[in-house]
Amino acid sequence: MTGIDYELFAIRYATREARRAAHFIGGDPHDGPMPMDYFMWVARGGGKTFVIDTGFNAEVSAKRQRHFLRCPVESLALLGIDPGAVEDVILTHLHYDHVGNFDRFPNARFHLQERELAYATGRYMRYPGLSHSFEVEDVCGILRLNYAGRVMFYNGDAELAPGLTVHAAGGHSAGLQFVRVRTRRGFVVLASDVTHFYENMAGGRPFTTAFHIGEMLEGFDRLLELAPSESHIVPGHDPLVMKLYPPPSAGLAGVVVRLDVPPSGTAPSRADYR
Ligand SMILES: [Zn+2]
Repeated sequence: MTGIDYELFAIRYATREARRAAHFIGGDPHDGPMPMDYFMWVARGGGKTFVIDTGFNAEVSAKRQRHFLRCPVESLALLGIDPGAVEDVILTHLHYDHVGNFDRFPNARFHLQERELAYATGRYMRYPGLSHSFEVEDVCGILRLNYAGRVMFYNGDAELAPGLTVHAAGGHSAGLQFVRVRTRRGFVVLASDVTHFYENMAGGRPFTTAFHIGEMLEGFDRLLELAPSESHIVPGHDPLVMKLYPPPSAGLAGVVVRLDVPPSGTAPSRADYR
């Protein structure tokens, strides 16, 4: 194959305890514990580094009672990345846990779906059930970055670099996008919140934070369409990701995993629900 194969990493920066019923619309017949992890992702190749989402900070973590493990931006150093040198940040959407540290990338431009900023500043934000997932200061910050010429907007699918594309899949948030990255094991699809857990997509059961359930279901189809197989799809918040993928080095176990190698076990898949 010609073209760039990217290295692809997930950094786990926070976690929280939760119940299964909290993660599926309509609840779950077998309720029990189902913790949620929080990640930042990095794609590196062809001399370029793309940071994908920017996590939240300690202050917001405390306010929302999350368990903050480490600052995701400071954790970039573990991969030899200086945030001040990062030129491209992809924001899958503007929920607090995906955009929180945007101000820590002073030299980056930010890649976002146009519909997401319209949603986050629009008519529906008067409803706490929808605005709860945003921090208004983050949204204001992105507005300011736009006035500074630092936000690149997309409507639907776009190629940001050879082998690296974004794809709109609203529903969870109106302007959510996911990222497809070419790696040595083929195209890997970083789903972000198109599917929080493997089980959301596998069972066709959308997550509880929802703007448009029909678009969420179509989002599952889009992930499957763009991935060579289900094992090439990486959900946005599933603790299983840390178990299925290896750390880049022994010292980074439990903190960083590499997603450009095949998973070492099986995750819940569509076949389990047929
Ligand atoms: Zn979200």
